[in-house]
Amino acid sequence: MLDCAIIGGGPAGLTAGLYTTRGGLKNVVMFEMGLPGGQITQSSEIENYPGFFDHTKTGMDFMDSWMEQCFHFGLTHKMEKVLKVKKVDEHFELTLESGEKVESKTVIVATGSTPKRAGFKGEDEFFGRGVSTCATCDGFFYKNREVAVLGGGDTALEEAYYLSKICSKVYLIHRRDEFRASPLTIQRVQKTQNIEIITNTHIKEAIGDSMGLSRLVLENLNAEQSVLEVNGIFVFVGRNINNGVLKSDEDNFICEVNQYGEVSVDLKMRTSVEGLFVAGDLRADAQKQVVCAAGDGAVAGLSVISYIQEME
Ligand code: FAD
Ligand code: NAP
Repeated sequence: MLDCAIIGGGPAGLTAGLYTTRGGLKNVVMFEMGLPGGQITQSSEIENYPGFFDHTKTGMDFMDSWMEQCFHFGLTHKMEKVLKVKKVDEHFELTLESGEKVESKTVIVATGSTPKRAGFKGEDEFFGRGVSTCATCDGFFYKNREVAVLGGGDTALEEAYYLSKICSKVYLIHRRDEFRASPLTIQRVQKTQNIEIITNTHIKEAIGDSMGLSRLVLENLNAEQSVLEVNGIFVFVGRNINNGVLKSDEDNFICEVNQYGEVSVDLKMRTSVEGLFVAGDLRADAQKQVVCAAGDGAVAGLSVISYIQEME
């Protein structure tokens, strides 16, 4: 039986792994279905994590240095998706995608979130062939060409700015005329010459052929349509909360969640189920910042150690 099973290997899960193993737990496994690092590895930059201030480094570079440190004290990474967490008597049973069952005294769930689709016609058809949710990954394919970005939050504006350094022009399309992004980010985008902001507009359809996307049909609030000739559209319209592992066979949550499906926790990252902890973007009221997710992971890790000591 594991001392602690950590689900998710983003900033929260990795930090929880660092704290549990460095705090003396011997048997800690982090189940991360991909490579560790989490969402921030898709970012072109990070400038608000104290102690790290280098505009030449991407989110991937930033997380690289976490790996060595977080695995140094004995944390193990198992590259598998967890399907379900169930409490059985005083411990937990995890069901992995492979069908394997794993028992653990405690669980920290840090599964974060994943990009939402906007829902326009052709979005799925051209996904990976012109439609993208990752500028760091795909921006280079559009070097010196025109692209579009959809969304009005921090991600859309930051990535539009990133793309403006690679692409000849970036059309930033937003359905309202007010942005959710932070004021400084908005100002930076507004000042960037090769970003054209198109507000009060949505994408009606993505059109292309076997070679991929060739144009977007836009529609404004007056139902006037226009065509944008671009081969790339980057969609940044928010994230889905990855709370599926916390659902029972009957499709109910095994612990308390809020109206958005984010998990309710106390200041020790304890959920309503004893021995089950949640950290990072998955929890209610998370600020959705790397530094906050890391803080949550540390708190959850320390809480697990106290919980196991009390059990014993
Ligand atoms: P995540 O980073 O989402 O990690 C969750 C991990 O869990 C993922 O690796 C996923 O593969 C894994 N997982 C999910 N489900 C399962 C499962 N069932 N089984 C196994 N593994 C699973 N924050 C900042 O502070 N500064 C920034 O500049 C910044 N820029 C950003 C730019 C972009 C493009 C994006 C998308 C986000 C940005 N953020 C930024 C937000 C920041 O990345 C997140 O707040 C942070 O990564 C959350 O960490 P987390 O560990 O909670 O979750
Ligand atoms: P977000 O803040 O939820 O913004 C999503 C944007 O997409 C909104 O502008 C929304 O429009 C628009 N949108 C939603 N659905 C749409 C649809 N179907 N069609 C067209 N547009 C649609 O998401 P985010 O930008 O990914 O940010 C997520 C969180 O991470 C936020 O809390 C953010 O602050 C944080 N983050 C922080 C940083 C940083 O600190 N540097 C960087 C990136 C992200 P409306 O505005 O009209 O709703």
